[in-house]
Formats: sequence, C-alpha cells, structure tokens
Amino acid sequence: MKIDQFPEWVRPYLVPRPEGDMLYRCLGCEEKFGIEQLLYTCPECGQVLLLQDNNFSKLRETSGEKWREIFDYRRMLNQQSLNGIFRYYEFIAPVIPLDRIVYLGEGHTPVIEANARLKELVGIDFYFKNDGLNPSASFKDRGMACALSYINHIAKETDIKDVLAICASTGDTSASAALYASYLDDFLKSAVILPHGKVTPQQLAQPLGSGAKVLEIPGVFDDCMKVVETLAEDYHVALLNSKNSWRILGQESFSFEIAQDFDYQVNDKAIVLPIGNAGNITAVMGGFLKFYEAGIIDALPKIVGVQSEHANPVYRYYLEESVGGKDFIPVTVQPSVAQAAMIGNPVSMPRVIELVRAYNRAAGERRIFVVEVKEQEIMDSMIIANRNGNIACTQGGESMAGLKKALQAGYVLPGEVGILDSTAHMLKFLTFQEMYFEDRFGSEFEVTPKHELRNAPILVRPDTVSKFPEPGEPLEGEEMDRFVNQMAQEIAGILGIEKK
Ligand SMILES: *Cc1c(COP(=O)(O)O)cnc(C)c1O
Ligand SMILES: [Zn+2]
Repeated sequence: MKIDQFPEWVRPYLVPRPEGDMLYRCLGCEEKFGIEQLLYTCPECGQVLLLQDNNFSKLRETSGEKWREIFDYRRMLNQQSLNGIFRYYEFIAPVIPLDRIVYLGEGHTPVIEANARLKELVGIDFYFKNDGLNPSASFKDRGMACALSYINHIAKETDIKDVLAICASTGDTSASAALYASYLDDFLKSAVILPHGKVTPQQLAQPLGSGAKVLEIPGVFDDCMKVVETLAEDYHVALLNSKNSWRILGQESFSFEIAQDFDYQVNDKAIVLPIGNAGNITAVMGGFLKFYEAGIIDALPKIVGVQSEHANPVYRYYLEESVGGKDFIPVTVQPSVAQAAMIGNPVSMPRVIELVRAYNRAAGERRIFVVEVKEQEIMDSMIIANRNGNIACTQGGESMAGLKKALQAGYVLPGEVGILDSTAHMLKFLTFQEMYFEDRFGSEFEVTPKHELRNAPILVRPDTVSKFPEPGEPLEGEEMDRFVNQMAQEIAGILGIEKK
C-alpha cells in the first residue's frame, strides 16, 4: 500500500528515522562506550556488552495501543528495508539509516498450530514458529541482518574499503554470516571457523556456496570460539558471533513477531527454545522486556530454555542457583544430536543471568525456566513432529521435548499455550534423521531408534520384469507394457491396495 493510502495519523510514523542514541553497556563494570566502533567485549574489564538506547524513554511517549497500530499498518507497507526484522525499527537499532539496511528476506516466519495428534501427545496446545524458513534456514539470519546492516553503515560512514568478518560456528552462524557478507561483497569478505566434522554436510555447503573462506579446526565449538576471540582481540577483523551485541538486537525480532502474531496477547504463552551459546534466549527475553516496558504487551510470557543432558551448563546453573546461588561452571560437552546447541561455555551467560533477574523482577514472579532433556527425547520428538506436518530440526525437537518436560515439572500449566522455536530447517540436520532411520548412532549419543518411527525407501525391482528402462534407453511397445503392469502389480501388493 502507498503511504498516501494509509490513515492520515499514521503516515508520519510509517517510515521511521534514526532517532535512537545507542551505547554499549558493559555487564561487568557498567561502563558505557560509543557505537562508532565495533566492540565485542569491554575494553576496561573484558566482560560482554549489551546495546541500549538512551532515548528508549521517548518511545514510551507513544502509547502501547498506538505502537500496536503502527506495526500493524507497517505490515502493509512495501519498503524493502522495513519488510524484515526492521518492521520494529524503533525497538531494534534506531541508529542505522534505512538505506544502509541489508534485507535478504529474514523474519516474519510463520507460526504453525500443532495438529490434534501432536497436542494430545505433548498434553497442551502449542505452535511451532518455523525459523528454519529464514534465508539461510535458521534464526541466525535475524541477528546477522542487524549486525551486517550496522557494519554496512559504519563502513560507508568511515569509507572503509576492506573488512574481514569472521565467526566460529556450530554450523548456522557461519551459513548466515557468509550469506549476508556475500551480499556486501564490495567491501566485506568473510571467513568462518568450524569444528572439523562437527557440522552437517548441508551446513558446510552453505558458506562454501556463498564464497566464504572456510577453515576447519580440530576440537568442538568452544575451542573454535577461543581461537576466534583471540583473532578478534589481536587482529583487524569484525566478529560476527553473538558476542557481537548487534546480533542480539536483531534476534529480539523473534519476540516482537510473536507479540504481533498473537495480537499482543502473550500472558498465557510459554516460549520454548533451545539454549546453546545463549544469545537467542538473551534476545528473546530482551525483546519481550522492551515491548512490556513500552506498554505494547501488558504481561510477559513464560520462557522455557531447553538443554540436552550432553551440553547442559545453563540448566545446571539454574538448578544450583535455586538452592542458594553459585558461580557459573562451564561443562565439557558430549556428542549431541542438538549439535547447533552443543556448547559447554556459553558466551552470553552473563547476559542471561542479568536478564533472567530483570525479567522475573518485571513480571513479579518467576517466568523463566530451564529444563533438561535426553538425546533420545530430542530425536524422537523431532521425528514425531515431522511425521505431523512440521519441518523441525533436532533443536526444534529439543523444544518439543522441553515443552513436555516443562509441563511435567509444572512450569507450564494446562490451558497455557506453547510457542516452540524451531530454530532451523530440518534439511540442515538430515544427518541425524539418517542416523535414526538407519540405526547408526554411536553409543555416545545414547539414542536407540524406535522401530515404528524408522523409515526407509523400498526398491521395487521384481524378478518378473526382465528389462528395466535405463537413462537414454527407454523401453518401447510390449516391453514397456510389461514393465508398467508388473511394477503396478508389485507396488499394489506392497501397499496392500485392492483392485477396482
Ligand atoms: C545457534 C543455534 C542454536 C542455539 O542458539 P544460541 O543463541 O547459541 O543459544 C539452536 N538451534 C540452532 C538451529 C542454532 O543454529
Ligand atoms: Zn567492563
């Protein structure tokens, strides 16, 4: 719709201006730093940072009701830069001029209601939000769109000709970083550092296809992260891991979309998501808090973070914190089918600790929970979800297993509604589906496929057919008739279908 077709009152609000005043805030020493440089950690004390908008209070001068209408109208506006996560521009990064925004189709992923069979199985109504339908097939694109828009902005501002963006990755960060960097190819090159053998073939193919330099190193993600941190400290590179707080801002759009998709009624919702490096749960909490503080939603939804038994440092922390509070202790990870979340020392842990406190304080009660699930439950849940019309990855399966756990634990109550983050597309994690179907899990995974959930193709090549068609050698006449009839008969037998 064209601007002059909108109601008069909303026209001035449709295309926002960069009126924010953003600063990095250190979560250790509380020091603030200007955003003219790309910082990942505090130059004073080394702690992680979050970005805040000093003009946020100005947003509160507009009523919650008005904001809801602005976002609903903006949905009808056709303007590339505002078509994705920046529909919520004022609440994300209101310092980036619109013409610097990189939009590759991220955001506004569908929420899909679980069918009756799945609801019964889990014991509660729920939806999947399919973040695998982002351009590089994972939620990471939300954060990357924001980080790369910012880098694009400062590079143009300072006339930088040559930026090397790097990241460590469990697979999806690198796919996303490489995709967005390739779009800005004139000044930005990307290099990704992966744990050798610990990303799926599809995830490896993605940065290769985008033309990034792909470096594989021995070890697990946590080892790659250490190398990349040292590179970012000692060399001129732009770090694209979620240590980069611009990514957190972009990922907050997940919460904004849920609010809008449910007509801003989220008090009875429980958002369920896997925790790996903990950037996502940081962003999801941060997003809802912002909308709550601005009066756009009138209650905070519950949030349930899920971890596998094989990579569970955040779960352990909250288990122990509930009995008195302890220091965070990283764990050594074991192989996990939720490979994208297989992280023992999440870089965003200080952010999580701070935001969980702020969230529960704002809600006036405990609204954040962390549950732990078994590898077996993750795999079974993914397979079952996908046998019921979904496209969940292993981490999406982890969300579903986590909702069941949260219900059993009484964290989520009957009558509430789950919204499960299906963080990537199932096609990225085919390896694990194959291992399940072919019963090829090593004992370290602790997964035994359920017979009734396995599936395999059946080769139909009956002895009654003497000649089969080959590429370039089609059958003809009687041979063709024989082939078709015998095959049809054989297939009808296998499927047990009756003749008319
Ligand atoms: C990165 C990732 C996660 C973990 O998210 P964090 O922000 O690291 O906690 C979960 N699932 C998928 C598919 C991912 O790519
Ligand atoms: Zn500091």
